[in-house]
Amino acid sequence: MEKKEYQLGDVVQMKKPHPCGTNEMEIIRMGMDIRIKCVGCKHSVLVPRTKFESKLKKILRSNAATEEEST
Ligand SMILES: [Zn+2]
Repeated sequence: MEKKEYQLGDVVQMKKPHPCGTNEMEIIRMGMDIRIKCVGCKHSVLVPRTKFESKLKKILRSNAATEEEST
């Protein structure tokens, strides 16, 4: 299994799509828990990091290239 690297602002795809039909989530907060926001309906959920990683399918877009300097 490849290592998944994600960071704040990244848009990720989960194994299971959100009930609204969108399968893109944006990482809006990182800590012991990770808050992700559905790109489609803007609904946000807080999930433990371990759970997030197990449900994460792939990283669609990385924020690193464009907003490296934002803190
Ligand atoms: Zn949604």
